[in-house]
Amino acid sequence: MIPALKINNLSFKYHDGTEALRGISLDIKEGECVGLIGPNGAGKSTLLLHMNGLLPEIKTDNPSVFVNGKPVNSKSLELIHRTVGLLFQDPDDQLFCPTVFEDVAFGPQQFGINENDLLNHVGNVLKMVGLSGFEKRSPHHLSGGEKQRVCLAGILSCNPKILALDEPTKNLDPRGRRELIKLLKTIPTTKIIASHDLELIVELCDRTIVLDQGIIAAEGRTIELLADERLMLEHGLEKPHSLKHRHPH
Ligand code: ADP
Repeated sequence: MIPALKINNLSFKYHDGTEALRGISLDIKEGECVGLIGPNGAGKSTLLLHMNGLLPEIKTDNPSVFVNGKPVNSKSLELIHRTVGLLFQDPDDQLFCPTVFEDVAFGPQQFGINENDLLNHVGNVLKMVGLSGFEKRSPHHLSGGEKQRVCLAGILSCNPKILALDEPTKNLDPRGRRELIKLLKTIPTTKIIASHDLELIVELCDRTIVLDQGIIAAEGRTIELLADERLMLEHGLEKPHSLKHRHPH
């Protein structure tokens, strides 16, 4: 079967010469939920930006990223943006409309939703993320956690087949975090979640990839990998409390 997402020997350098990714290859199957962990600067955000074609800024003729078998290049970008919903780490990078309604409606409008259905659709998605009644609020005057949920609503409103989430719990309080985990469990799409919240990774992801200095340092079943204290410490991470009594094979 064609993987939902395939990355084939991807390397990427920023303009200032920083080598953020060095020869990354991975396959993600349809319906899988994969964790992406690693210290700050490991390349997690850079990798997610490649998954929906926001990077590289200069499109090459030699693509390394394939979504449902289609190469990510300048010709496929619109389809890729529809297929892969990327939640940015910083909500302020994602929100740009004067009202929550407009922000959440933007994607579906671009994709040609019937105007009669729009009001209902936005209302339903806001309900999913726990923000019913926020339609007329200004996204810029919301709390960090609320902004994060508006961003998520904006992505879910486009019904993406793949969700790429960058630190989705970063701004959330404990209740918001629990609700997000519950919500993500109900969404059956393929997911890639970059996070320092290792308990969330344990709860949601069957498989995890450890990224460090732009390379895949380890990958495997989440509970096996994260129970390996030595591996975790080696890559600036910590063995999660929930796996305290579990020992790696
Ligand atoms: P992570 O998400 O794992 O913290 P990033 O993908 O943000 O890692 O960063 C990977 C590397 O690329 C780091 O060394 C970081 O400093 C560098 N980097 C990230 N964004 C830029 C940028 N816009 N310009 C130059 N270097 C960058």
